[in-house]
Amino acid sequence: MASGAKDRYLRAMSEADPASIPQSAPRPRKPDWIRVKAPVSAGFMETRKLMRRLNLATVCEEAACPNIGECWTKKHATVMILGDTCTRACAFCNVKTGMPRAVDPLEPEHVAVAAAELGLTHIVVTSVDRDDLPDGGASQFVKVIEALRRNTPSTTIEILTPDFRNKSEAAVEKIIQARPDVYNHNLETVPRLYPTIRPGARYYASLRLLESVKRHDPSIFTKSGVMVGLGEQRLEVHQVMDDMRSADIDFLTMGQYLQPTPRHATVEEFVTPQAFSAYGAIARAKGFLLVAASPLTRSSYHAGDDFEKMRAAREAKLGRSSAEPSE
Ligand code: SF4
Repeated sequence: MASGAKDRYLRAMSEADPASIPQSAPRPRKPDWIRVKAPVSAGFMETRKLMRRLNLATVCEEAACPNIGECWTKKHATVMILGDTCTRACAFCNVKTGMPRAVDPLEPEHVAVAAAELGLTHIVVTSVDRDDLPDGGASQFVKVIEALRRNTPSTTIEILTPDFRNKSEAAVEKIIQARPDVYNHNLETVPRLYPTIRPGARYYASLRLLESVKRHDPSIFTKSGVMVGLGEQRLEVHQVMDDMRSADIDFLTMGQYLQPTPRHATVEEFVTPQAFSAYGAIARAKGFLLVAASPLTRSSYHAGDDFEKMRAAREAKLGRSSAEPSE
């Protein structure tokens, strides 16, 4: 198609009712507020070299995160443990699916070396789903937390885990006992869209996981995120916020879903920055300690700064509570 005709077609597509866009349509043009700079800095190259040297995968690369240029320039990388191959096939996710390799026993030490060499004051560690492992990979999370505590004791630790569906409760309890500073697990979308977007997961099982972390150890911050632009309705998102508050989740992240390849779920809507602000205001009114809502927000985006804000918010809240007269 000539470029003028292609532009007109894409413009028409982006203005069309999303439900009328056929699955095979070219992806609608990203609005200006989504555009990001190409990753070319020296810091970016150094981060990449370090990850290769330590044989570590990152969700930044595997999920084709749009923030990689900014984050890696600042040497903020989110390590993805348990390999680079996932046993699930969620419709939104770019991580490759298949039969994963054996768990790397050197991985925990390598994560700790990466944290030290990057100078991380806060690290986010995530993983692929490992439904093939008896404990879903929980013991590897524990080993990583232990290695970090040994090697970089002042680094605060945030883990972003799978749902450990069909695994024993003991698997998750082991992680809770290792006491990460933040336990993050993403609900990803509204329950109505689970069968198409997250077919291997169950909305209420994910909620229960986060609720059980808080029940076992209220000192651990809990965090969860949703992507918007997948066809969800505003009131459905509000209901997810209410469900999260019922599970006592401290921190909500919300960002725009971006289609990684034409094989993945299509973007139904580019939610405007103003609409993100409105979501953020509603979420704050519902009582989250912290809310990050913007088109480029991702679970681990600015996670270190946000951890400090969350800690300060909790202290302020506790201070207020203790100052109040008891009934
Ligand atoms: S937002 Fe998270 S996943 Fe994306 S590049 Fe930054 S650290 Fe990596």
